[in-house]
Amino acid sequence: MVDERLLKAFEALRKRYGNGLAIVTVTRNACGGCFNAVPPQMQIEISQKKEIIACENCGRVLIADDLATSVDKKERISDIEDFPRRKMKRTFEFD
Ligand SMILES: [Zn+2]
Repeated sequence: MVDERLLKAFEALRKRYGNGLAIVTVTRNACGGCFNAVPPQMQIEISQKKEIIACENCGRVLIADDLATSVDKKERISDIEDFPRRKMKRTFEFD
């Protein structure tokens, strides 16, 4: 179900960020990867989870913070389980 173009972009990101932080959460209105400010409109789009939004500055994939901190974590994470679990876990360890 993953768009091939997005998948390619994601693979490229993973190569670029060998530390496994291709996916970051939006923290305090900023990108969790480069801390560049994320415009409110973009945050709305991210929280709607209708499409994959990348940071304008560093190109990392941005996910809503509630996705990482939600109580029903397992269920929420399954929404994006196409992303490698090990990499995701490393991202969430920042919580
Ligand atoms: Zn960024």
